[in-house]
Amino acid sequence: MGLDGYKLKWEKGRFDPGSKMPYTMSRSKVERYVECPRCFWIEARYGIGRPDSFPFTLNNAVDELFKREFDIYRAKKETHPLMKKYGINAVPYAHEKIEEWRDAFKRGIQYLHPETNIILRGGIDDVWEGENGELYIVDYKSTAGKAEVTLDDAWKDSYKRQIEIYQWLFRRNDFNVSKTAYFVYANGHNDREAFDGKLEFDITILPYEGDDSWIDGALKEIKGCLLSDTIPDASKRCEYCAYRDFAGKKLLELHQEAKKNKAGSS
Ligand code: SF4
Repeated sequence: MGLDGYKLKWEKGRFDPGSKMPYTMSRSKVERYVECPRCFWIEARYGIGRPDSFPFTLNNAVDELFKREFDIYRAKKETHPLMKKYGINAVPYAHEKIEEWRDAFKRGIQYLHPETNIILRGGIDDVWEGENGELYIVDYKSTAGKAEVTLDDAWKDSYKRQIEIYQWLFRRNDFNVSKTAYFVYANGHNDREAFDGKLEFDITILPYEGDDSWIDGALKEIKGCLLSDTIPDASKRCEYCAYRDFAGKKLLELHQEAKKNKAGSS
C-alpha cells in the first residue's frame, strides 16, 4: 500500500499492440480479466494497476510452513501422514525444477500459447506424484472459522480457476496431470477462550476435479481485449467505477463552486 500517493505500476511490460514479441502475463492477470476486463485492460495497456494491498503475512507464514513440512517428505520420498490419512497414494514430487515452479515472481511454470503469442506463467505451491506417475497439483490455503471448510462458496471459484490454470500449464509442459487436484486447507480455531499467543489449526485436504477446457478460449478473448482500443465494460459486481464517477462529479462541482466564489470575492 503506497503511503506517498498512487504510482503507475509499471512502465515496462505493458502490452504493445504493434509488437510481435510474446506477451508474458501471470495467472493472476487471467483472474483479473475474469473479474473485470476493464481493470485488466487499463493495467495491461497503460500500466495503471489497482493500488497494492497489504501483504497477507499470516497466510504466507502458513504457506511457508506447509512447504517446509512437505519438503521433508519430498527429500525422503515418503508419503506425508496427512496424505495417508486421506488415502492419497502419492509422495511430494521431487523434481529439479520444483523451486523454479514455486517462484511466481521470477519464473514459475510457464507456457507460450502459440495461438495468442501469450506466455502464461504461474507459481505453484506443490505437486505430488502418484504411484502411476500422474501428477496432482496442490494449493495451500488458510482461513479461520468455526464452519467446516469446503469449496462451495461462490468466491472460491477463483481458487478453482487458479488450480485449473496450473493443471493446464503442467499439461502444456508435457506432464501427465491427474484431473484431481488438492487443496490443503489450514483452518485456524477462533473459538478459544483466550489467544495465549497460540493459534491452532485443523488441516483438511479437499480434492477437486479440475477442468481446464476454458483456458484456451479465455486466452483468445484476453488477446482480443488486449488488441482492442475500445474501453471494455466495467464489471457489474464491482462498485468502484460507479463510486469513482460519483466522487469525481462531486469533486468537480465543488472545485467549480470554489472557483466561482473566489472570482466573486475578488
Ligand atoms: S469496475 Fe471495479 S474492477 Fe472494474 S475497472 Fe472499475 S474499479 Fe476496476
